[in-house]
Amino acid sequence: MNLILLGPPGAGKGTQAKLLEEAFGLVQISTGDMLRAEVKAGSPIGLQAKAIMERGDLVPDSVITAMLAERVSRPDATRGFILDGFPRTVPQAEALDTMLAEKVIPLDHVIELKVDDAALVDRISGRYTCANCGEGYHDHFKRPATPGTCDKCGHSEFTRRADDRAETVAARLAAYHRQTAPLLPYYGAQGKLKAVDGMADMKNVAAALAAIVKG
Ligand code: ADP
Ligand code: ADP
Ligand code: ZN
Repeated sequence: MNLILLGPPGAGKGTQAKLLEEAFGLVQISTGDMLRAEVKAGSPIGLQAKAIMERGDLVPDSVITAMLAERVSRPDATRGFILDGFPRTVPQAEALDTMLAEKVIPLDHVIELKVDDAALVDRISGRYTCANCGEGYHDHFKRPATPGTCDKCGHSEFTRRADDRAETVAARLAAYHRQTAPLLPYYGAQGKLKAVDGMADMKNVAAALAAIVKG
């Protein structure tokens, strides 16, 4: 089972991808996480991407597509994957179609998480992550059971993304509407698009996604 989770920044793609990993043994492939790792490592891709990401713009298609092709060809991807944050432009979607056709890998569902722009700003501004294991949290919507301690690993250091500031969020939403929203009719025309109400509670979103995966 290979899926794409499509939706604006803060829609819940990462949260739901992790739940799908646990429930169905799939592999989350997040181009945002991969890019943040490159930035942290100070690699050539990271050096190129850092300023672009901090502005809220998209990294060039050629860079992303090459990175994704390498990731999809690793052995663990044969378990089935969830693409989170890719594709984000029509050229990326076309490159993905070509890549999957060459490797004879099916794409089963493209699932749109629908969330209002106003809610996205609240979600992004309250988002933080365990610095040790990467578990995602939110100031209001998902607090650790013991304040200041990660539920998953027990560590007490958390990080906030450099691009989760109010100034950058508007640019990221604009990039979504201009460059990524055209993927909805693109996959609609392929008969692969499903929509899920991303405004619902995390567990209800997870149940709706599980129903699609189980068919
Ligand atoms: P994305 O990967 O699409 O950018 P995330 O999964 O990181 O989004 O979610 C953004 C923030 O919103 C996180 O802090 C997360 O805990 C929170 N969140 C995710 N899903 C929901 C939901 N259904 N209701 C409320 N908050 C949510
Ligand atoms: P979110 O879904 O919360 O906006 P991501 O972690 O998916 O965030 O992406 C963070 C940033 O990384 C994006 O704003 C963009 O600069 C870059 N990025 C991630 N994936 C892609 C992609 N497929 N194409 C171009 N840029 C990307
Ligand atoms: Zn943790």
